[in-house]
Amino acid sequence: MTTSNNVLHGKRALVVGVANEQSLAWAITEYLHAAGAEVAISYQRERRVHRLQALIDSTQPQFAQQCDVNIDADVESLFSTLSSHWDKFDILVHAVAFADLQALSNRLVDINSNDFLTCINTSVYSLIKLSQHAEKFMQDNGGSIVTLSYHGAQKVIPGYNVMGVAKAALEHAVKYLAYDLGPHKIRVNAVSAGPIKTLSSLAISGFNEKLEHSEQRSPLRNNISAYDVAALTGFLCGPGSQQITGGVHYVDSGLNILGA
Ligand code: NAD
Repeated sequence: MTTSNNVLHGKRALVVGVANEQSLAWAITEYLHAAGAEVAISYQRERRVHRLQALIDSTQPQFAQQCDVNIDADVESLFSTLSSHWDKFDILVHAVAFADLQALSNRLVDINSNDFLTCINTSVYSLIKLSQHAEKFMQDNGGSIVTLSYHGAQKVIPGYNVMGVAKAALEHAVKYLAYDLGPHKIRVNAVSAGPIKTLSSLAISGFNEKLEHSEQRSPLRNNISAYDVAALTGFLCGPGSQQITGGVHYVDSGLNILGA
């Protein structure tokens, strides 16, 4: 992973949501590290940690800790570990989303409340919960919180279903969090990424067609890469974006401008 400079030197970053080397969180961790930041990572399942060894070897995180964002004790423990390493930190990346597979592929109108709430809790409330904790460590020196969204938040994208509703809530939560945390100079933004093959995206029905569509129809006639997402995230954490907050920033080869 190459970056043009050491622009994040002296910054400390916690990246939540690494599952494997395809994860956007993996590319973001590599990017932040290459830009000079000290990094820490969290992952959902202990039994999957062996998949992260290459990332741990290459970025030498300050710590790598299991955390299920729906379990309060895990989140408390994550920030307790963080406080034992760092008195403050600067960057929180939230790269977490989940919907039950069946619920994700079904029509929204058919979803039950349990599946709906699980999706919203995991994909939206987790950002709020992590931001509550992050505020305590960022408020004296400012900071940047970045989450990941998709255009299904703004428009109906067949196959995205309940996750579109969750991303709409996530994008609006970004605005309210930016308002709440702005007085502490904590910025909150979302990166809205075009489709990229990952563990999660492959669960979306018709995903390969979305990739083809993006490659053939986007203004730039490209699919984006995880690096593109990481580079925009890095920018939103760095000095060039100090006055940018509450926004949803697209990196999708321009796909979102199309009406049909
Ligand atoms: P991924 O599967 O690698 O990442 C999703 C992460 O969420 C995984 O690490 C998973 O363990 C974690 N997660 C789910 N439930 C959790 C829980 N209860 N506690 C803790 N972690 C939990 O896939 P990805 O594509 O890298 O997804 C990262 C983010 O990017 C998601 O918010 C996704 O919606 C978003 N996104 C992805 C794409 C794409 O095309 N891949 C496009 C736009 C936005």
